[in-house]
Amino acid sequence: MEGLRVNFHTFGGEVKALDGVDLSLRRGEVLGLVGESGSGKSVTALSIEGLLPGNAEVVGGRILLEGRDLLKEKPGQLRSERLTKVAMVFQDPLTYLNPVLTIGSQILDILETDRRAFTHTVATARLQELQAAGGARTLTEAETRERERLQSLPPDGVLGKREFKRLARSYVVATLRSVRLPEPERIFRMYPFELSGGMRQRTIIAMALVRKPTLLIADEITTALDVTVQAQILELLRELKTEIDASILLITHDLAVVAEVCDRVAVMYGGNIVEVAEVNELFKDPLHPYTRGLLAAIPRPDAARGELTSIKGSVPNLIHPPSGCRFHPRCPQAFERCPLGKPPPVEAKPGHLVECFLYGG
Ligand code: SF4
Repeated sequence: MEGLRVNFHTFGGEVKALDGVDLSLRRGEVLGLVGESGSGKSVTALSIEGLLPGNAEVVGGRILLEGRDLLKEKPGQLRSERLTKVAMVFQDPLTYLNPVLTIGSQILDILETDRRAFTHTVATARLQELQAAGGARTLTEAETRERERLQSLPPDGVLGKREFKRLARSYVVATLRSVRLPEPERIFRMYPFELSGGMRQRTIIAMALVRKPTLLIADEITTALDVTVQAQILELLRELKTEIDASILLITHDLAVVAEVCDRVAVMYGGNIVEVAEVNELFKDPLHPYTRGLLAAIPRPDAARGELTSIKGSVPNLIHPPSGCRFHPRCPQAFERCPLGKPPPVEAKPGHLVECFLYGG
């Protein structure tokens, strides 16, 4: 993401939600995006998914996915790129699951939306299944014929409707199993209300994984869950991190979640990325005054009794954002230069970027 700027047109005025966001995600890494509510984390994610509401406008910047600018793609091409490459998991699974359809049919729906795009995904899954079976026993004649047919499928080949549905069904069951859901065959036939909160969240993760995305965006996925289930979902993410060939953008306001699963972390404030570093480095040596404030605000059970530390003031009004560094009205280290211009990103240490006038001379 390079210099991404997004405005919202509202009755109160123009909300400058993203003010030139630069962010990069490496293949296979988990990047945490943290910040207070209203800092622009979810708008960043929705921009990538193309799910911004009608009153939002991208007024500048680029979103490059494997070198292609998503903002310049034609609508049809864009839909297909996003369908197969970017998947998003949201906070509240009940909002995104259809209450009157079974779990299985909802996930099958995604694959059947574009048989051409997903033919190779389901065919490869079936081939792997047959190969595994072939290693344990002799394949039947029908299975051998099926294997040969799938192996000879051309790169642009499309499976017939019936065969696609049959293979997609077993692929969906396998995906439900991969997110550690017990009895996936039974869950395939169940309705959302029959599942617990944690199982629903696993279902939503399976719904995202079934597309074999290059980028998985997880937006506050543990926030609505109780602590025990939260720990189970984080454990699942940690395991999936090594199993799936995808980059994960993990959006959260919870620094403990970041410490558990992320490789790097980006801190957002008032529509800007203000600091990016490896997780251990950021916790050991936070540079930006806002990051320091966030870390100092984590309650510690071993601390002496007294008042909890907090960052004074509140998030800025983005219709009339503060001039210069948007954090200056709340910053304990602000000086004359801070309201005069936006601080540029500075690599204060190798791989540790910060946007603050205290660094880079
Ligand atoms: Fe504080 Fe100035 Fe740095 Fe902004 S640029 S964080 S106001 S010291």
